Amino acid sequence: MARASLEEYAAKRSFKATPEPAPAAAESRSGPLLFVIQQHSARRLHYDLRLECDGVLKSWAVPKGPSLEPGQKRLAMQTEDHPYEYGSFEGVIPQGQYGAGEVIVWDCGVYSPDDGQEHWFHHRAEAEERVREALEKGKLSFLLRGEKTKGSFALVRTADRKSWLLIKHKDRFATKDDPTERNRSVLSGLTVADLKTVRAETMSAA
Ligand code: MN
Repeated sequence: MARASLEEYAAKRSFKATPEPAPAAAESRSGPLLFVIQQHSARRLHYDLRLECDGVLKSWAVPKGPSLEPGQKRLAMQTEDHPYEYGSFEGVIPQGQYGAGEVIVWDCGVYSPDDGQEHWFHHRAEAEERVREALEKGKLSFLLRGEKTKGSFALVRTADRKSWLLIKHKDRFATKDDPTERNRSVLSGLTVADLKTVRAETMSAA
């Protein structure tokens, strides 16, 4: 069922031409749900927030990236579901392909819905059910345990159904510090600029 939602992802891409992962057979996973925020240097630099649910990564493009300051509303445009495997993808999407440009894993970790201060980090099925229902209703409150992004956030759908707002809740992780000033991958330590300069080598090695 969940994998059917990857049709749009697959239709937009040619897996002979892009290093991005093709949709794979569903694997059942255990433990907390994954979140990832990728920095993507496409025509415009943006951040892609992805939340694991039902075997795929629900996805939003956040032009300015997350803010850790309560009250700051960051536009988050919902995009097509991505395969779970996309969560560790870093590399260069070649010119001419959908989303051409460099991608790094800017932040990742685990998340849980957090309605009423309750968490479901250790109850995967219940966490997924709550996320699914909240997204259908257009309002998800969730707790991130990442390296750069921590604490409680809300995703709220606007009248335009593709447009959501990402807002930090007040908690001990709230700060005026801009997390996007830390611009290195949490997996490789690289920046998107580093990927631009290694592009030639990577391609000749491939
Ligand atoms: Mn993107």
